This record gives sequence, structure tokens and C-alpha cells, in this order.
Amino acid sequence: MQATKSKVVSIDYTLTDSEGNVLDTSDGRTPLEYLHGSDNIIPGLERALEGKSDGDAFEVTVAPEDAYGERDQGLVQEVALTQFPEGADPQVGQQFQAETPEGPRTVTIVNRDSEGVTIDANHPLAGQALNFAVKVVSVREASPEELQHGHAHGPGGAH
Ligand code: ZN
Repeated sequence: MQATKSKVVSIDYTLTDSEGNVLDTSDGRTPLEYLHGSDNIIPGLERALEGKSDGDAFEVTVAPEDAYGERDQGLVQEVALTQFPEGADPQVGQQFQAETPEGPRTVTIVNRDSEGVTIDANHPLAGQALNFAVKVVSVREASPEELQHGHAHGPGGAH
């Protein structure tokens, strides 16, 4: 069966950056299952999977605009330490949810000095070209419930 709209596709994948560092992999885990054509995965990867069948293996490089977007310097902000709750001790690398005009986003503390911190609401992979090595494990019809929800359900119908 081919990966087309409204099919549930199961893939093994390894994601590397332009230096070959492994950023994410399904190796040692259950394959990633997603509902094709429902924006469950980044657009560039979904496009590369279109029409692929069980057992197909391929590599694709996805440009930032088809992955997590270009970095937006407007999403980098200074926050005074006085704006943190009493006793808070924000550290570089910490992530938290913040309200933004586009809704809640995960932000990362990327710098700290005596006055405050710099927070970055860009996706950690924004601005990066991503290399995927993909193997299609299976393709199946989606259940009516999966189509209604717009995503794949795991074994036993679990989320
Ligand atoms: Zn669901």
C-alpha cells in the first residue's frame, strides 16, 4: 500500500544535522506512526514520503522552510530577573512554556547575566536543514476515529 492522504504510515527514521550529529532516531523505539496528509509531521518529510510503500528506504534533506522554519530574531527577548517569581533561579538551557501572541510556546533560556536572561522562542531546530534516513515499516488504512481526530492511534487505539 502506498503512503497517500488518509493512510497511517509507520516509519523508522534517523535525523541528523548538517554535521552528521544524530538529533533524533526511532532506533531502539517503536516506529513513528502518523496520519499522512494531516500535518502530523514536517511538510518536507511528508512530501518525501508521498507515494512510498512498505519497505521503501530513502534519504532526504529538508530545507528549514519545509521543516521548523527560519530563525526569527523577533522571538529572542531579554527578561529581567525581577520578572521571575521570588526564589526562581533560571539557568541557561532550561525550557518553559510562555504565552506569546501566537499562543503558548516552549521557550529556552539561552543566556543569563546579572540583570536577566535571554529567552528564545524559536524551535530548537529552526534554521537548520535536516537530513532524514527513512524506512517505511508499514502503510495501512486509517480508522474512522483516526480520521476524525486527525492523527494516528497506537496499538489498541491509544493516543
Ligand atoms: Zn485521537
